[in-house]
Formats: sequence, C-alpha cells, structure tokens
Amino acid sequence: MPSPASDDAFAEVKAKVDLVKVVSEHVRLAKRNRDLWGLCPFHQEDSPSFKVDPQRQSWYCFGCERHGDVFTFVELIEKTDKRGALQLLAERAGVELQKLSPEQRERSDARRRLLLMLKLAAQYYEYVLWSSPAGEPGRRLLVQRQVGEETARRFQLGYAPAGRGFAEYLRAKKRSLADAQAAGLLRRDGADFFAERLVIPIRDERGQTLAFTARAVRQEELRKYINSPETPAYVKGRVIFALDLAREEITRRGHAVLMEGQFDVITAHHFGVTNAVASSGTALTEDQVRLLKRFTDELLLVFDADRAGRSAARKAAVLAAANGMRTRVASVPDGLDPDEFLRGAGPDAAARWDELVARAPSGFEAGLAEDAAQFNPSNPNQMEMVATRIREWIGQFPPSLHEGYAEVAERRTGISRHLLLKAPPQSPVKVGTNGLGARTQGKKTTVSRYLLQLLAVNPIAFERIRTKITPDELDEEDRGMYVRMLETYERAGASGLESELGDYPAEEQDLIRRAWAAPPPNVDDRLAEELAARIRLDRMKVRQSGIIRELSEAERGREAERVARLEAEAGELARAINDLERSR
Ligand SMILES: [Zn+2]
Repeated sequence: MPSPASDDAFAEVKAKVDLVKVVSEHVRLAKRNRDLWGLCPFHQEDSPSFKVDPQRQSWYCFGCERHGDVFTFVELIEKTDKRGALQLLAERAGVELQKLSPEQRERSDARRRLLLMLKLAAQYYEYVLWSSPAGEPGRRLLVQRQVGEETARRFQLGYAPAGRGFAEYLRAKKRSLADAQAAGLLRRDGADFFAERLVIPIRDERGQTLAFTARAVRQEELRKYINSPETPAYVKGRVIFALDLAREEITRRGHAVLMEGQFDVITAHHFGVTNAVASSGTALTEDQVRLLKRFTDELLLVFDADRAGRSAARKAAVLAAANGMRTRVASVPDGLDPDEFLRGAGPDAAARWDELVARAPSGFEAGLAEDAAQFNPSNPNQMEMVATRIREWIGQFPPSLHEGYAEVAERRTGISRHLLLKAPPQSPVKVGTNGLGARTQGKKTTVSRYLLQLLAVNPIAFERIRTKITPDELDEEDRGMYVRMLETYERAGASGLESELGDYPAEEQDLIRRAWAAPPPNVDDRLAEELAARIRLDRMKVRQSGIIRELSEAERGREAERVARLEAEAGELARAINDLERSR
C-alpha cells in the first residue's frame, strides 16, 4: 500500500475518481463538443468560461486562468492543501493511504463508529423536535427566540426528550449502546445525556456532526448549556461552529462574522447574516484562526458589550493579527446581545446590520478607543497613564504594525507617536542588574563597545559568540576592531592579544589597555552571549523599520512584486525577532 503522500498515492487516487463527478458537485456543467462548460466557481462571472476536459481529466478557466487536475480543484474549492485534497479524495475513492497498524485501524474504526452514532443522534433529535409531541418544549423555545423552521432545519436543531428515548431507538435499530455512551450521548444507565434540551449539532467545515451543545428549555434550569465531551472526533478548540453553512457567504462578503454564542449565530443566520460563525465553547484559539483564514482575511467580531466581551474581542484581535488576519469590532448599541438586537430590528434587521458593519472600527482602534476614553490631553498625569496603556496595547501586535498603529493613536489622542512606541532598545546602555553600563563615564558606552571591552579582557568568550553574530551587525565604528581581535584570537589564542597589540591602531590599543586596567564589571561568557543577542536584535529591528518604510513606498507605487518580496522579508524578520526575543 502506498505511503501517505507518495506519487503512487496520488496516481492511485487519480485513477479512481472522476474529475467530472467531483466538479459537478459544485458547478452545473453543460456539454459543448467534447468538453463540459460551466460558471467558474473561483471568480464571479455570468457566462461560462470554466471548461472541464473529461478525457484529460483537467480543467481550465478562461476568465481567471486557474487550471489543474482533480487535486488542484479540490484544493481550491475546499480551501485545503495538497495533502488535504489527497485525503478527501482518497476517502471518497476508498483508497487506503497508508498501512495501518492494528491500533491505528482500531482508532480509525472507533472514530467512524462515533461519527455514525452522532449522525444518527442528530437525525433522531430532529425527528423528535418536529414530528413528535415530545418535541413541543423545543418548538416553543424556537418560537420564543424567533427562529423559523427553515433556519432550524439548516442547523439540524433537535430536541432530546426526557427519559431513555434515544436508547430505545438504538435498540430498535439494533445499534450498540456502548458507542452512544462513548459519544457522550447516553448516561451509564441509558438515560439521555441531553434530556429535555434543545440540541444543536456542532459540525466541522464540511458539515459532519462532531458533537452537540444543548440548551435548557426550562427557565429554572441552572446550567443553560451542556456540551458533548471531547472525543477522538471532537476537539473543541479546532471547530468553528456553522462554518459549513457560512463558508460560501464568508468568501462572497470577504469577511466572517465571529460571535460568542451558538444561538447568536443561529439567530443571525435567520435574519440574513449568513456569514456568521462562533468559536464554539472556548475563547478563540490559534487553530480556529487558521481554519478561518482558509476562507477569509477579515473577522468582524461581534461580542457582548460587557467587560468580558470587550476583553475577548481584544484577545481575538491580537491572535488574528499574529496570524495575518484583520479584525473589526462591531458594537451592538444599547448594551444588547447581538441576537436581541436582530430580533428587535425585525424586518429591518439586514439594513440595521449593514449599518453596524459599516461603522465597525478595526480591532486595534476599538481597543484604543477604550484606552483613551475620557482622556483629557491637558492633564499631564493622565497623559502619562494613557500613553502607557496605549503603548502596551500596541506592543501586543506584531512589530510590523507598530508604526502604523502609533500614527493612528497619535491622530486619535494627540499624544506623540514617539511616546507610544516601545523605547527603541539600543545604543546607550541602561544600568542593568548584570552591571551593564555601570561605568559609563564621559562618552556613553554602547552595547557593541561593551562587547569589545569584554572580549579584550576575556577573549575566550569569542568561542560563545563568533557564530552568533557577524561583524556588520556591530556599530560601524566597532567593526574593524572586532574583526582584528577575532583574527588575533583565531591565530594566536587567548593570549594573542598581548603579543599582537602593538600592530593595532593607536586608538584601539588605548581602548584595550583601558579595559585591561579597569575591566568592565562583568565579563563572563554568558553576558557576551546576551550582548551579542541584543546587538543582533537591534540590527534586525532597524532593518525592520527600513522594510516598513520601503513597503509603504512600494504600496503607494503599486509595485506588486516588490510589495510581495518585502512582505515576505518582513514576515521572516518578524519570526526571527520573535524567536530571538523568546530565547533570551
Ligand atoms: Zn475562473
């Protein structure tokens, strides 16, 4: 059997699936001569320029010029990668991708049974909700919340009756109760785990039910929601609720609406906001952000207006930015929950919603407005405090955004942007715990100069740093001396400096002698490493602000290629800086 990603696997899967069939699930195709034509699913068009060649098993769009084979098509349409496409198509073709060990087979088997059980449960609960007298409390709740049947069915909402209804249903179908227990559907005594609750399936982005959340129908119920446990099929931080229903509209509108509660999302869909999703049972996680990023670069955050909601929005904005996504924050007026707002607007809901979206500031600006609320610029104490708060807020975002954000904050508050950026961590050395800079008499000692003094006294430290720093990362006036000392050390070892000192330029001899006579307070190897790291970091940050300036220049000039190159470089640099900062 072929290994997961070998060419064999691709070939085997390709031989077993028909491109025409796969495409037909997404595009209505009509035959013209030998080929099939349809409206391209990858760009907007009114007349078909998307062609499928059944013989070659290839496709081509004359509009957007995208093209490829069945794998490329699935990659694009499912917003996945090559591996993901292989996996999807292999499942469909019944090709096993790798030899499974008995344990793996057992696991994959268990997962399949779990998913089947969840699907059965969803069907059963839905049946009870709409077709059984026992479903009455669920139907009443939906009427109260103004969720119509059509919307409810799209989400496959259901009702779990009191007692052992589902267990009996399984018995009648000769299904295993143990599987249902493993899926968290039944208690040990066979009673329904979700009894007397409205049941909401949590599905993955392809519509597969992975778990349930269930809402109490009775006012006096203490726990409003209860949830399925995590299982091999369900890890809550990885699922986005309603993404299967919202994905198309997310792509069409160019943003996803991220809400806090599943019921908010259901109401939103009912009132036409069909690009709404929720992070489902957790604060937004990085996995969820990455999942969303397959469909859009922008999140519209619609959280509750309370303190918890505002803090969740801030965290989401920062997390999204770290993953290259933009955010905006919509605030629902009058302290209403999003679903109260939509229900209150009734038939005007769509229009009122659009106004809300149009007004939504960026995630950064929303936090800024909070930090600067009631700020009085003529009060110096206040200014200090607000500047600190804003500086911290800016500092949470990736460095490449800092300058732009400081500008925005300056415009908003009148506080100089220089006060809003973290003090550039360079040249004149601050007095630190390791004695750094303690002897800054007269001319200020820079980090790179301190390193030279340290190396003069303790040349062995070259061993620790010569691979970690290059001479051109040092201050310009220190480079020559660093290279000379390094050469001496490599040629003549730790005592070489004494014998070769006479060949050094007078100024450098002077500096070395002074270091010998009065060594800096701390000359150990570890400090040398720390200094080298600081020097590198400073260099990288200087380069970074250079790139940012170049980038805005390139963007103004619409030089797409240069922008792409600079963005890539900035990304790499940001990662390197991040790594270096974390390792210190
Ligand atoms: Zn196209």
